[in-house]
Amino acid sequence: MTIRKPAFDTLAIHAGQTPDPQTGAVNVPLYLTSTFELDGIGQTRGGWDYSRAGNPTRDHLEESLCALEGGTSGHVFASGMAAIAALVTMLKTGDHVICSNNVYGGTQRLFSNITVGYGIEIEYVDTSDLVAVDRALKPTTKLVHVETPTNPLMHLTDLQAITDLCHSKGVEVSVDNTFLSPYFQSPIEFGADIVMHSTTKFLNGHSDGLGGVLVGTKPEHRERFHYVQKCTGGILSPFECFLVLRGVKTLGVRMRQHEENGHAVSEFLAMHPKVQKVFYPGLSSHPQHELAKQQQRGFGSMMAIETGSQENAAKLMKALKLCTVAESLGGVETLVSHSASTTHFSVPPEIRLKLGITDGLVRFSIGIEDKNDLIADIEQALAAI
Ligand SMILES: *Cc1c(COP(=O)(O)O)cnc(C)c1O
Repeated sequence: MTIRKPAFDTLAIHAGQTPDPQTGAVNVPLYLTSTFELDGIGQTRGGWDYSRAGNPTRDHLEESLCALEGGTSGHVFASGMAAIAALVTMLKTGDHVICSNNVYGGTQRLFSNITVGYGIEIEYVDTSDLVAVDRALKPTTKLVHVETPTNPLMHLTDLQAITDLCHSKGVEVSVDNTFLSPYFQSPIEFGADIVMHSTTKFLNGHSDGLGGVLVGTKPEHRERFHYVQKCTGGILSPFECFLVLRGVKTLGVRMRQHEENGHAVSEFLAMHPKVQKVFYPGLSSHPQHELAKQQQRGFGSMMAIETGSQENAAKLMKALKLCTVAESLGGVETLVSHSASTTHFSVPPEIRLKLGITDGLVRFSIGIEDKNDLIADIEQALAAI
């Protein structure tokens, strides 16, 4: 008899989430403890001695997320930014890093304002352009950090091509997989060395807790990221781990609904006369639609539209009744934000414009409400322009 490999929806519910052997509790218990009783000097009962180094609830979440991404170890942190900060500790003075040029604003802020202070060189490159990446690679390049699709313009990077190129030069590739979640994209299948998420978004999915994760593929990642958790202490608390464990159980059903709604809303927006442009890889008009079909299992529910001016963007956002105007994304509720003044406010205006993040750009994270209710709300709000 061959053993059937569990499908994603099964893993999301069972990987790392087996019933508690001691009590039979179906859910992973919440271990609210900072320390653990020892049986003798240096003798732990299950390997736990202090919760900064390890906590059973956290171990279960790390096992779950590692299985969903297909890596060899998972490491959760207090936020997505704390996870990226932990990633940066792999670097040393003199190293060179290539980063996608329209990444999450917080990543750009960390790299440009903190990381460079340690003598690490950061270069922003359009990673959808392989020739540009090849040109930027140097003997000192240690890491290429990619976001695909990017925030908020939904540009894609060819994961297989970029990892092939980087590996031929001995450079590791890390991928921020926050926008699609492991349900729609598996960067490790295309050769990525490290996958990162803000679990705050789709993985937790209910906009009620921050968190971040690094999934590694090599023994040195396991050792390093665990050591960084213990040394710097930016770990995810047991309570937030419990929330994410609960969130991932419904990741598949939520993502399928996000996708269905995303499609419906993007098609409505593409037809609307007051919308100048829609950025959504699921539309056949998206320049990288074919690549999206190749490396993604779906298109998700993140999209942006061009309204023409900040005034139009403000009118639209003020008129929305059901959709909530707020930062963040990936929750069950639809969230709408103005990238230039929120996620990308720390990016200098001239660079923002060069990237195409105009003052009239409005980003949508389409939730799982009824799609016709969402379209009706957006339609009445567009009438305000
Ligand atoms: C939100 C986000 C982050 C940062 O995560 P936090 O949990 O807010 O610290 C990083 N990358 C992407 C793509 C994000 O959307």
